[in-house]
Amino acid sequence: MKVVVLRYGHRISRDKRITTHVALVARAFGAEGIYIYGEYDESVARSLDHVAETWGGSFWSGWIDDYVSTIQNWKKEGGIVVHLTMYGQDLEEVMGEVSLKDRIMVFVGSSKVPPEVYRLADYNVAVGHQPHSEVAALAVFLDRLFKGQELMKRFNGARFTILPSKAGKIVRETQDEKNNKRDGRWASKGE
Ligand code: SAM
Repeated sequence: MKVVVLRYGHRISRDKRITTHVALVARAFGAEGIYIYGEYDESVARSLDHVAETWGGSFWSGWIDDYVSTIQNWKKEGGIVVHLTMYGQDLEEVMGEVSLKDRIMVFVGSSKVPPEVYRLADYNVAVGHQPHSEVAALAVFLDRLFKGQELMKRFNGARFTILPSKAGKIVRETQDEKNNKRDGRWASKGE
């Protein structure tokens, strides 16, 4: 299954952290990449590059200047669009059907989402009908879609990987960055 995210309406003045968090959740919860529509923000692009360098994987991100044609092209190629909105259908009601699709674009807003998005979307889906956050909505949706398996995903080419630990932080430094096969020294590393 190929899953991408479209983050709508980035505003440099307000959304720096939240757009970065939307992208980090997309990456960590199994999406392949993220389209970002709104004001171009170099600091977001830099943060995402830094995460990719440190923690590996092939997650991509790119700014778009026309979200309608991005959606239309996705649909032409056989993809479906799921718009996350508190006004949509219940998550539980649509999840079975959505899970059967091969190519899914998950659309999340920030500022007000234009009415045409509700029409372009194949599914308008609510993660509960209370206002909360695009970060939370995306995390819950992706986790339901992948049934928790996404959390087991390995990210190739990481400089560091984390060894699960009951207490403290144990981080493994990988010497062979290309194929991530040889383990480096084991080190405790602060943030
Ligand atoms: N009134 C907005 C709405 O349509 O959901 C809430 C705006 S919220 C600041 C920004 C984004 O968070 C929304 O565009 C939507 O993608 C997501 N979101 C917030 N609450 C949600 C919910 N209960 N279910 C699904 N998505 C939600």
